[in-house]
Amino acid sequence: MNLKDREDQTRLGAAAASEATVMLRGIGVSSGVAIGQAIVLERVATEIHPRRILRTDEVEPEIARFESAVKRAADQLDQIRKSIHPEHPLNGHRYILDTHLLLLEDRMLLNGTKNAIRTECQNAEWALSENIDRIIAAFDTIEDEYLRERARDVHFVGERVLRILMGRSEDKRIDQLPPHAIIVAHDLSPAETAQLEREQVLGFAIDMGGKTSHTAIMARSLKMPAVTGLERISREAQTGDTIIIDGGTGVVIVNPDPDTIFRYKERREIYRKYQQSLMAFGKLPAVTRDGDRSVRIMANVELLDEIEIAMEHGCEGIGLFRTEYLFLGRSDLPSEEEQYEAYRRVLLRSRPNVVTIRTLDLGADKIPTSLKFEKETNPAMGLRAIRLCLSNRDVFKVQLRAILRAAAVGECRLLLPMISCLRELIAAKEIVQEVKQDLQKEGLEYDPNIRLGVLVEVPSAVAIADLIAREVDFVSIGTNDLIQYALAIDRVNEHVSYLYDTLHPAVLRLIRQVITAVQVRGIGVAMCGEMAGDPVNIPILLGLDLDELSMNALSIPMIKKLIRSIGMDECRDLTARAFDMSDAQDIHFMLEEWIRERFPHDYFVDQPQQGNERHEH
Ligand code: PEP
Ligand code: MG
Repeated sequence: MNLKDREDQTRLGAAAASEATVMLRGIGVSSGVAIGQAIVLERVATEIHPRRILRTDEVEPEIARFESAVKRAADQLDQIRKSIHPEHPLNGHRYILDTHLLLLEDRMLLNGTKNAIRTECQNAEWALSENIDRIIAAFDTIEDEYLRERARDVHFVGERVLRILMGRSEDKRIDQLPPHAIIVAHDLSPAETAQLEREQVLGFAIDMGGKTSHTAIMARSLKMPAVTGLERISREAQTGDTIIIDGGTGVVIVNPDPDTIFRYKERREIYRKYQQSLMAFGKLPAVTRDGDRSVRIMANVELLDEIEIAMEHGCEGIGLFRTEYLFLGRSDLPSEEEQYEAYRRVLLRSRPNVVTIRTLDLGADKIPTSLKFEKETNPAMGLRAIRLCLSNRDVFKVQLRAILRAAAVGECRLLLPMISCLRELIAAKEIVQEVKQDLQKEGLEYDPNIRLGVLVEVPSAVAIADLIAREVDFVSIGTNDLIQYALAIDRVNEHVSYLYDTLHPAVLRLIRQVITAVQVRGIGVAMCGEMAGDPVNIPILLGLDLDELSMNALSIPMIKKLIRSIGMDECRDLTARAFDMSDAQDIHFMLEEWIRERFPHDYFVDQPQQGNERHEH
């Protein structure tokens, strides 16, 4: 059916009612409900580009053509960047477009492409697209979702240059949208997202992307409901279809029946009121309703620019600052000064709150080009994190020097990842001590009393938590890895992801074991895995007496609100019931039912549903 026929059919109400209803589940990246007409954007067809072998005399002009396309792409991005008004909600995200502009200057992108034109006589489109594929493939092996998503930035920038080389119109897809549109696309670049008018666009649903793509980050700032990672929405929906998107649960319904539309209109209203009321909770302390328990709510952060967002959402400190991003996507190691500057800025921006800086968690699938790695058969259990640091002491020492020096300007804690035995912890502590002595001798300012903690994320560390507690000032539980190692489930393998279960009775017991062993010594226990930011888990985490929860910044107001509305009695009761159950599904079910009944208008835990559905009216 062509577009015109399609629009005609949609206008005929009766005909529309005969359409199949399709329900897809993706990743809800920006909450809220939008109901409107789908506008399906044409796929940017840059996959098919001309491939040509150049004659020798064509090589230099081809390089000039490539350089001029790069320059044009930079001008376009700069134009879009400048068009963001200082009052616009995306103003704080101009850095995303700055990053894209920087990528256009990246040596790997430029020289790699020019070399292929020169040495292999490939035409510019061919050389560029192969070079982009190579860069993206390197990112693809990274476990950390945030860093992996950065490959998409390379893709968007490369695609822009490719389109220019191919003489295709750019940024035209989102020109002249009708009002109240819901955008459906295979993908949407941050530059395109920056140009969406909130008056015109109610929300978007796309095949690609995850929670940490820049497109998703921007959607949240625009407070525009959005669902990503739907895989096939751009094929299932057609322009003119009625579409519902629920950016909280990730549900998208194409051609819903009138009852469903009615239900979601109600939900939209509840969401709107709920969101309005939520931000105020960020400012309040996380104390249970009965005043029995107070928990420190912290943020997990990867990039400097996220600190502002974390503060706005009411974090009481940074519970996990991942430092790998300083080392990835470049061919050299960051110097002590560069690292010092980065950590110092994090500490200054977070003052007076504490910042927990985790030492390098490289290795496994986060492999920087600047360090030499042997190929490993089982890299998740290989030379990674603290193991890598202990065998590359120079690299480790440079990082420790930078952290200790930066710690002089604010309250800083040092967190060691992947500790699996006491010997590693003692060795790391000795190196910290050596570094302190060096700094002292050199007369450099540093924090001699920096607090040191272990990230408990390996089952053996759980078993020796009592021994670890003797050596440290605090402990943080990293459930993301702890679950993978405890349940023997590769956290990035989609074939076994159905087994990756936060509420597995074994996981709950491991967490309890750490807390009991560590708190006896009067030492606080934090949790910084994803588990800490999910409302369903909160009663149990409180029932187990965790002192600190560190999470994605956007979850903070919601989690604070939940903690403030429950009492410790019900937390203890739910925890006791969960520990009586032998099956993770039953625990999930109990907690979800509790939250739905207790807070019917909050937290939006959906009724259990089967995956994706299609049915005819
Ligand atoms: C964890 O493993 O829970 C954790 C916080 O670290 P990462 O997700 O960076 O491995
Ligand atoms: Mg981890």
